[in-house]
Amino acid sequence: MTGLVVRDTGTPAELVELRLPEIGPGQVRVKVRAAGVCHSDLSMVNGTLRPPHPLILGHEAAGEVVEVGQNVTRAAVGDHVVLNWQPACRNCWFCEHGEPWLCSTSHGVAALSNGITLDGDPVHVTLGVGAFAEQVVVPENAVIPVPAELGFDLAALLGCAVLTGTGAVRNTARVQPGESVVVIGLGGVGLSVVTAARAAGAGQVIAVDVTEAKKGLAEAAGATDFVVSSDALSKDIRARTNRLGADHAIECVGRASTIRAAWRATRSGGQVTVVGMGAADDMVQLSALDIFSSARTLRASVYGQADTDLEIPALARDVLDGKLDLDHLITDRIGLADVPAAFERMTRGEGARSVALL
Ligand SMILES: [Zn+2]
Ligand SMILES: [Zn+2]
Repeated sequence: MTGLVVRDTGTPAELVELRLPEIGPGQVRVKVRAAGVCHSDLSMVNGTLRPPHPLILGHEAAGEVVEVGQNVTRAAVGDHVVLNWQPACRNCWFCEHGEPWLCSTSHGVAALSNGITLDGDPVHVTLGVGAFAEQVVVPENAVIPVPAELGFDLAALLGCAVLTGTGAVRNTARVQPGESVVVIGLGGVGLSVVTAARAAGAGQVIAVDVTEAKKGLAEAAGATDFVVSSDALSKDIRARTNRLGADHAIECVGRASTIRAAWRATRSGGQVTVVGMGAADDMVQLSALDIFSSARTLRASVYGQADTDLEIPALARDVLDGKLDLDHLITDRIGLADVPAAFERMTRGEGARSVALL
């Protein structure tokens, strides 16, 4: 099969021929039908994250089950499924204490190898998925069946951007009706945060990005205000929030500078939620006095702090019932070979989600 592979940090991604393994007990083979281009994929190409190489990119995807191994009970051949890059084991301390998004058997940003080979050598797969390929082989707990009426392109988004953004609002920040929310970084996740914040009843959703070009997308997602980021951001936010700062800031970039901006954009006692996945050496500086006297809360939201097995099917139903509109999130439907160009658009801050259709 063909897949999009990065051979080393700093080298361009290229389409190559890969050899798939036979599947084992408890495994599922999925024909990928749609795979979104997520910022974390770009981070694995541009050196922000340091995964092992060679690496098949892609982790936000949906497809059709084409083969199941022995003892597989979750899915059958022909099922439409969303791929889950943080599957829960249901046995570890975190799973047993209601925090499956922190499952200790999942590997966070690390890549795994799953038997796929390139020129005879093992190749790693991004977040255990490696979805920019014609097929993936995953453990059965990494597939979540969804109704076949849901388009593969929209289903793919549920596997990362939409779950992450919606969960940050509902499960981590727990935005309440009437509250004000600043959203920094308007990619697929940030725009999902905007939509979820409005759906949660936020009175004001102030969308922030580095470029004016995101204004239309922000408004389509439900933003009440749009601000181009600058050194005066916290002043701009205060001017729009009775000089207090916002109740919430949700950071969807994953950089120390934007986490600091989110901190300064919230009121005393406000909540800062970090959704972006940043680099290991990018240090956030906050003064000890500021932490105490501002009484703000700083939390991370990993994969929407969600139980994926429950929340991805629920989001699928919301889309089919017309309660959750995702159409504006997809700005580019592309082929696998066009993913590197989508990384370039993302680097320039253009568009929302690009989705590769296979
Ligand atoms: Zn992602
Ligand atoms: Zn677990």
